[in-house]
Amino acid sequence: MGLVPVSIDSVLRELECLYDPPRSFLDWQTPLDLAVATLLSAQCTDVRTNIVTKELFHRCRIAEDYVTMPRSELERIIHSCGTFRVKAKHIQELCAFLLECHGGQVPQTMQELTALPGIGRKTAAIILYAAFGKNEGVAVDTHVMRLARRLGLTAETNPDRIAGDLERQVPRAQWGRLNTLFISHGRAVCTARKPACHRCIFARTCPSSSILDTQKSV
Ligand code: SF4
Repeated sequence: MGLVPVSIDSVLRELECLYDPPRSFLDWQTPLDLAVATLLSAQCTDVRTNIVTKELFHRCRIAEDYVTMPRSELERIIHSCGTFRVKAKHIQELCAFLLECHGGQVPQTMQELTALPGIGRKTAAIILYAAFGKNEGVAVDTHVMRLARRLGLTAETNPDRIAGDLERQVPRAQWGRLNTLFISHGRAVCTARKPACHRCIFARTCPSSSILDTQKSV
């Protein structure tokens, strides 16, 4: 008998039983903190980002603080997050733009957020969900991409197309939650290098499961 296609509803139900993730794995107190932390977390682990923002958020509480800080000092603080020159530039441009156009506040719509320097659709979706409780898009990071592809929920490789596929399959109210549940499972079980299929809840239904390969070969 062939494999029954994995339903995303059942995937989310199973993951809800296993995990209760926060709205964001990054440490933050204000929407501006979250926007800065999300920029810093690109190509960097959340653990490292949270270490760096501990000092950064102590020094910078409002957009003016980032703009007036010497670029070299900002680069020193965020150095270990990688691509620090580009990130420092983006953070200062972002804060200057916020001061000029939004009174120093982080806007609350996808359109306004993606118009900000350094903020793409994924980052905007994360900020809107975590800071404002709005489901404006599925944020597709490396974990979401890997899990969605392995489970056969998408055949796409482009993050925006994967987001589109997932958004068509899941009610809007679950878009933000999907991101954090998939990240939880991607970190704990379905890791990039060595997915632990033998202890995965989807071992018998996932089309990429190594358990099924083993069964086929005996
Ligand atoms: S069965 Fe394996 S490949 Fe499929 S989701 Fe689980 S860990 Fe990932």
